[in-house]
Amino acid sequence: MSPNQLPGHPHIAFLGDELFIEGLRLSDLAHQYGTPLFVYSKAAMLSALAAYQRGFAGRKARICYAMKANSTLGVLQVFAQAGCGFDIVSGGELERVLAAGGQAEDIIFSGAGKTRAEMRQALQAGIGCFNVESEAELEVLSQVASEMGKVAPVSIRVNPDVDPKTHPYISTGLKGNKFGVPHESSLRAYQRAASLPGLKVKGIDCHIGSQITEEAPYLDAMDRVLDMVEAVEAAGIMLEHIDFGGGLGIDYQGDQPPAADALWAKLLAKLDARGFGQRMLMIEPGRSLVGNAGVCVTEVLYIKPGEQKNFCIVDAAMNDLPRPAMYQAYHAITAVRRTQQAAQTYDVVGPVCESGDWLGRDRELAVGPGDLLAVLSAGAYCMSMASNYNTRGRAAEVLVDADRAVLIRERETAADQMRGERLAFGPRT
Ligand SMILES: *Cc1c(COP(=O)(O)O)cnc(C)c1O
Repeated sequence: MSPNQLPGHPHIAFLGDELFIEGLRLSDLAHQYGTPLFVYSKAAMLSALAAYQRGFAGRKARICYAMKANSTLGVLQVFAQAGCGFDIVSGGELERVLAAGGQAEDIIFSGAGKTRAEMRQALQAGIGCFNVESEAELEVLSQVASEMGKVAPVSIRVNPDVDPKTHPYISTGLKGNKFGVPHESSLRAYQRAASLPGLKVKGIDCHIGSQITEEAPYLDAMDRVLDMVEAVEAAGIMLEHIDFGGGLGIDYQGDQPPAADALWAKLLAKLDARGFGQRMLMIEPGRSLVGNAGVCVTEVLYIKPGEQKNFCIVDAAMNDLPRPAMYQAYHAITAVRRTQQAAQTYDVVGPVCESGDWLGRDRELAVGPGDLLAVLSAGAYCMSMASNYNTRGRAAEVLVDADRAVLIRERETAADQMRGERLAFGPRT
């Protein structure tokens, strides 16, 4: 790796003293579109996808981008054009996929709390599979489908009870989690599904958590899932596909997750050894496809020296980048232009009126007011989690393809935010 390359960020690098994303200077983009600004590299998304595609070469497999990681239409379009399916978790996400040019039959619908209205919407569209998360949901889905004269394709999300060794808020495959059907009752759920008139059993799925950086939890989960496939098929219910979920981590802070192709070489060896290598395979990666393809560029507003801490106050905040406030997550932060100035230690904080509004703590930065910072690894679970707290408009987003930039989301105005609101009372008389 050249010293100018940022670890884990293949298409974001310093050229001289300037930080570039593909062929464009981030400072130029910030001046053109304003800050805070999310900027994504198309090449970085496609190279992350290519690692999975290499991993599945010669197999029957579908990569369904878990779009909750970043659901902006311009991002979805990149994956739709690259041949991906989509993993959705709401009716709103279904509308987004269709608006971005995705195919309904390549959509799988996950989530523990699907409403009847969302089930109807997805059946009407003709999605590929519902990943059902409880026995109660099986009953409701069968009923809704029967009322429409349709049969819903289903897979059951089994909870393999393995510890993904990640942050408790993003671990989903343990017994104490709300997700999936417990391993012990999975067979009963399959038998019930097979007996219901509105359902057609298609497959099995699991998803054990997010930002997973070790391969052992995946290998353990695969064994547990295959045990279940054997038990279900022994009961006479055949499964066309095995959906192994998402969750592979990215490098935020020297993390070393396995590469997607290397991980899948091991998982496929296991599938082959147990005689399942020719099954249709599906996966639902989110973060690992987009996380390190994006940065958030923000302007330094004020430097505020303090007795215990120096604060670097920037124009991006917890409403734009919620992960530090939500999970104490770490995002690397770097100046967009290198200088010879002496660095100081700062807490990088936003303008929102909460002490939880911080983006990074104890960071060495050589910056002053008006300088630009890049918050790295901002492609996943940032814009899609952004809020309007403090009536802050959501940031603009730009997609870069080589030396071309396209504005894929305009900066939100106060009028955008107030649309749909009504004053409660007429003028005082
Ligand atoms: C969130 C989620 C994913 C994607 O997880 P990543 O960690 O972003 O890869 C996949 N499947 C399901 C069911 C999810 O809830």
